[in-house]
Amino acid sequence: MSEPYPPYPQTPPPLPPLRCPLCEGQQFQREESRQESRWGFSSHRMTLMVCQRCRYVLHFYDTHSIWNLD
Ligand SMILES: [Zn+2]
Repeated sequence: MSEPYPPYPQTPPPLPPLRCPLCEGQQFQREESRQESRWGFSSHRMTLMVCQRCRYVLHFYDTHSIWNLD
């Protein structure tokens, strides 16, 4: 996976709506999970957006995303 956009100049491009890549659904159930690192001294929060139509799960790493998930 590569960055969806190049580094922002001043104004970020408009965001497309968060959309399921499989069924194009836009209703999501938000879940959180924590994942311990392999060495056990840090953990990372994953935000999971579960498509309510087909149950496909979109994973977001840590808390910050270009989509406002909170
Ligand atoms: Zn879906």
